[in-house]
Amino acid sequence: MTVRRQPVLGILGGGQLARMLALAGAPLGVKSLVVDSAADACAGQVAPLVVADWTDYEALDHFARQVDVVTFDFENVPAETAHWLAKRVAVFPAPRALAVAQDRLAEKTLFRECGLMTPEFKAVDTREELDQALAIVGAPAILKTRRLGYDGKGQFRIKTLADADAAWAALGAQATAHGLILEAFVPFDRELSVVAVRGRNGEFRTWPLTQNWHTDGVLSLSLAPAPDIAALQERATHLARTLAEQLEYVGVFALELFVKNGELLGNEMAPRVHNSGHWTIEGALTSQFENHVRAVLGLPLGDTSARGLSAMFNWIGELPDAAPVLEAVDAHWHDYGKQPREGRKVGHATVCAPNASQLVERLSGIAHALGRDQQAGPAVGKLLENR
Ligand code: AMP
Repeated sequence: MTVRRQPVLGILGGGQLARMLALAGAPLGVKSLVVDSAADACAGQVAPLVVADWTDYEALDHFARQVDVVTFDFENVPAETAHWLAKRVAVFPAPRALAVAQDRLAEKTLFRECGLMTPEFKAVDTREELDQALAIVGAPAILKTRRLGYDGKGQFRIKTLADADAAWAALGAQATAHGLILEAFVPFDRELSVVAVRGRNGEFRTWPLTQNWHTDGVLSLSLAPAPDIAALQERATHLARTLAEQLEYVGVFALELFVKNGELLGNEMAPRVHNSGHWTIEGALTSQFENHVRAVLGLPLGDTSARGLSAMFNWIGELPDAAPVLEAVDAHWHDYGKQPREGRKVGHATVCAPNASQLVERLSGIAHALGRDQQAGPAVGKLLENR
């Protein structure tokens, strides 16, 4: 009998996304090897962890020799590291796609080339250019770092032109290293995301559009499939596909969208599995994590249909009592094994149901048991109002 060699997936970054990727790979017989600079990175609890930083080429060389394909849990891996690895081993998504998604200016420019409208934007590198950009974009607006921002970090909201000095004081120091972008503030009706996957052979699928609610720039609730998407799903799928083909993208990505007067506007693209796709673990026939593993390894993709309705809540800072979720019907608890810290995503819960009224009932029961009626009230109310 020949010895069977299991495929090894290399994952750059060892957070909860790497953890869930490694867990999804296991039933497919895929082993994972994770790289992170932190020895306590939470993916290290479920897969072997190499502790190294992104410029430790000796460690990265050893890592590259042990894996069949490299992918990302973290989109801000330096482009040089991704290019260096791509000379030694298959890297998906390819460094070029990663580079575009790392830069808000390149990303929004590509969106427009692909026919996806965006909020008005202007690159800003100097204090003078901020005034020029404000004259064109107007206020309210948001000044953002072009690179390295996530979850609302590296952003300053400009309510009136008088806030320009304060915005520059907050972000001007980062203009030289990362560049800045000024974007018009969009008073959107709602936020949606489309999570999509493209295989090595070009096979393409999307999960149903997801509606997202943020608190202080951080995702707090996702509802999938989003209500009233009949007129938007096809367009969102077409746009995601056009983008993926332009970038020759391989793997899962999320396209974050604003909806204003029935029109879709592109906010950003995450070149990886995405928080707004966590509901797919229990709520879809194939999860985003499994399909990402399948895509980067060149395996056939799985069905992305939703089983019913799902709502996903993030646990930020610290975990609440797990019991009300564990006791509820079709409710699923995810503890990332991280230490509590303010603003940190430490876990999530997904509640599934065959219809809206049962979903609302289950959510209300959990919220009540957790003493969070107040917090859950607006979210649950939104579900009711749309169904
Ligand atoms: P981002 O890191 O760009 O995804 O921003 C985090 C959140 O801030 C988004 O999900 C929106 O809720 C909000 N936001 C970002 N950009 C804009 C914008 N141009 N107009 C209105 N809200 C925005």
